[in-house]
Amino acid sequence: MASASRCLNRLALRSLPSLMAARQSISNPSPFTIPASFAISPLTSSSTIVASCTNSIVSPAVSASACTTKRMLSASSTADEKHEGNNVEHAMTMLAKADAVCFDVDSTVIDEEGIDVLADTLGKGPEVAAWTVKAMDGNIKFEDALAARLEIIKPSQSDIASCLEKHPLRLSPGVDTLISALHARGTHVYLVSGGFRLMIEPVAEILGVNKDRIYANTILFSESGEYVGFDANEPTSADRGKPKALEMIKAKFGYKTMIMVGDGATDAQAKPPADAFIGFGGVITRQAVKEKACWFVKDFNAMIDIVEGK
Ligand SMILES: [Mg+2]
Repeated sequence: MASASRCLNRLALRSLPSLMAARQSISNPSPFTIPASFAISPLTSSSTIVASCTNSIVSPAVSASACTTKRMLSASSTADEKHEGNNVEHAMTMLAKADAVCFDVDSTVIDEEGIDVLADTLGKGPEVAAWTVKAMDGNIKFEDALAARLEIIKPSQSDIASCLEKHPLRLSPGVDTLISALHARGTHVYLVSGGFRLMIEPVAEILGVNKDRIYANTILFSESGEYVGFDANEPTSADRGKPKALEMIKAKFGYKTMIMVGDGATDAQAKPPADAFIGFGGVITRQAVKEKACWFVKDFNAMIDIVEGK
């Protein structure tokens, strides 16, 4: 209890509005226990506020996460370039208490675009990659780009199996550690992708994500395994599919705090219902996405620190 009190005593935020927002945010903490009140006193720095926790009943996980958030925010005054985004404090606070985190897959969980890998193996790479760029930059409706690319590739069941055997999809560095840390904390992890379920399932298995926590597109095959189309009923098959998917997840399971993590325009669309959008630029930086991100990261290290409460 003493360590929790010491920890929260060090919770220094750079402005009163920020502190009050953080206090209100963690006052509705489900599923965690949180401190009941803070006493606020000025420091010598005119731009800094210290919050003193007067309630020592706080879970170690939350107090550690709060301290991590505080430490990183304190550091941000000298390293703002490291904590880019339009509401970094909010994103960190939300991540510290999130009960569900949804990850995009292509160029986020994996360091490539699955559909481009599939197209490459079938000799359709350049033609399809051009459509992928247009879709990810938000310059064309997602459903139009998906239909156009699949019409070019027309992948059979055996084409996909052969592709994954020759080229297993590669994880982005650190994503396995981050997802393990979230699972260890009891946070549910979802993979929400405009890519294909068939290609994502092996990735989910490596990461320990249940198949029923994959929201992605389903390719339809004939009885002989030839491509015949895709399931247009999947929420992720159309533009604004990710907010729809997150709404479904939230309605079904009643999560209190959800985070969306991803590199694309379709990921940024997921806030709301996500409480925070963390843009990921470890594979590619998209300026339009960066501008919409509460917090924009180039790797997963800082997120891991918050989740682990380091
Ligand atoms: Mg992506």
